[in-house]
Amino acid sequence: METSILISHTVSIYDMAKEKDKILREIAELFENNPSKEQIKNARKKAMRVNLKLPIEIRRKFCHHCNSLLKGRIRLRKSKKVIQCSECGKYTRIPFRS
Ligand SMILES: [Zn+2]
Repeated sequence: METSILISHTVSIYDMAKEKDKILREIAELFENNPSKEQIKNARKKAMRVNLKLPIEIRRKFCHHCNSLLKGRIRLRKSKKVIQCSECGKYTRIPFRS
């Protein structure tokens, strides 16, 4: 009885890892072909559902306020880059890595 529980538990973790990997690849692919706001929103939702933290290269590509691709005025501050989103006008701060 106990072994079967153990096995099913292990399998589900393995499935979860596979699922996360699949979703991550889907999202990476999506970001290569100029995704729309809606697509980015759905991708983030999907990642959130499986508790997947998006890699930094992907997280830097979109505005976290309005989910559009991040572009706009860039200003440099002492320890960070500040980008003002051209869609919603909000700021994204990117710290410089030392
Ligand atoms: Zn925005």
